[in-house]
Amino acid sequence: MLSIVVPVYNEEDNVRPLYEKIQAVCETIGDAYEILFVDDGSEDETFNVLSELCKQEPRLVIIRFEKNAGQTAAMAAGFEFARGERIVSMDGDLQNDPIDMPRLLEKLDEGYDLVCGWRKDRQDKFLTRRVPSIIANWIISKVTGVAIHDNGCSLKAYRASVIKQVPLYGEMHRFIPAMSTVVGARIAEIVVSHHPRRFGKSKYGLGRIWRVMLDIIAFKLIISVFTSSPKLRNPKNLWNRLSNALFNPKQRAFRAAAVLSLPFFVLGRILFSTANVAALSCLGLAISLLVLGGLTENRVQQANQTSSVSGKLAHFFSFGCKRRPIRFLGPIGVMSLMLGGLFFMLRMTSFLSEALGTIGHGLSPILIATGILIFCFGLFGELIAFANAKHVKDYAVETILNANNEGTCRE
Ligand code: UDP
Ligand code: MG
Repeated sequence: MLSIVVPVYNEEDNVRPLYEKIQAVCETIGDAYEILFVDDGSEDETFNVLSELCKQEPRLVIIRFEKNAGQTAAMAAGFEFARGERIVSMDGDLQNDPIDMPRLLEKLDEGYDLVCGWRKDRQDKFLTRRVPSIIANWIISKVTGVAIHDNGCSLKAYRASVIKQVPLYGEMHRFIPAMSTVVGARIAEIVVSHHPRRFGKSKYGLGRIWRVMLDIIAFKLIISVFTSSPKLRNPKNLWNRLSNALFNPKQRAFRAAAVLSLPFFVLGRILFSTANVAALSCLGLAISLLVLGGLTENRVQQANQTSSVSGKLAHFFSFGCKRRPIRFLGPIGVMSLMLGGLFFMLRMTSFLSEALGTIGHGLSPILIATGILIFCFGLFGELIAFANAKHVKDYAVETILNANNEGTCRE
């Protein structure tokens, strides 16, 4: 069986023509098939159009989220519910062309686990879309070692048994090829067609450039940790090890925090050889961050159920920003680092040095060290989020619609 997964968010004018196109192509392939539209909490008529369609189309499955959870979550849900051995994903805005599906599947059958589409002749704005994409793809391929031209193209074919193993969270859909290497996927790429968007609006702006940069750093770390040793390769293994060593049970968290803070203390001593105060504050910060880390991760499971303060705190820190600690802590770290640098430069100018006084002098190394620590903590959080991704869902399914044999919709 073949499963087609399409995430849609406010695509009312696109879903019907897209469904018809996909169906026409699937008929030529000849396998049994199902088409899963994942409605990511659309606020327009998308769901109504789909449910109308569902009444006549037994092969259509609609998964509707309670609220918007993002394209990655929508794709993850599609992969989870898909029943086929082979899966194809594509955008719901008619920019990808279902006509490329047979070629993708042919390539998959040559013995690959993932075949990526490459929008060689991409039909998007040059300066704001294509140039950043070319740069990002070049960096991703250099950093992750997966030489794919177009990571952002949603048109891909997967071996279901492989993609179902890759934990997807945050905005990871742009990094599926790189993350698939964690489970040892064999990856290929073929050129696909691409059309300009005719109906509806793109859901992303220029803000993605900064987010993708943070992602690249985080995923590089995840990939190197998870592919480094066979023992670590199993996410569950890493998660168990980390949580046992550090956070579980409670007393151990304090012990581990104290041990782990030691290098920070030494770092503090080297950085501020004359200022013990700064070294101690560095230590204190390290301990509090680690305890906080223990607290948050320990309570993640409860956070989804209880309304306790620690549960809420855990949710906020660990999974508040779509389960991306680096998205939350990264900018704070970088800001602190930049501020420290600024103070450092101000110290150079003798006039301002006097004006800043002693406080100004001590501030710069503290800000720099704090920035680095916060950033590292964000990266550490990423590892935990990845290891734990299978246990916590990013989305809540409101309804699943699928016409039964009599042609009526059931929930
Ligand atoms: N999408 C989604 N949830 C979101 C944002 C986007 O399901 O929060 C879907 C969207 O409906 C489309 C696909 O993801 O089918 C790609 O989005 P878009 O076309 O806006 O991205 P672009 O092509 O501009 O990169
Ligand atoms: Mg698009």
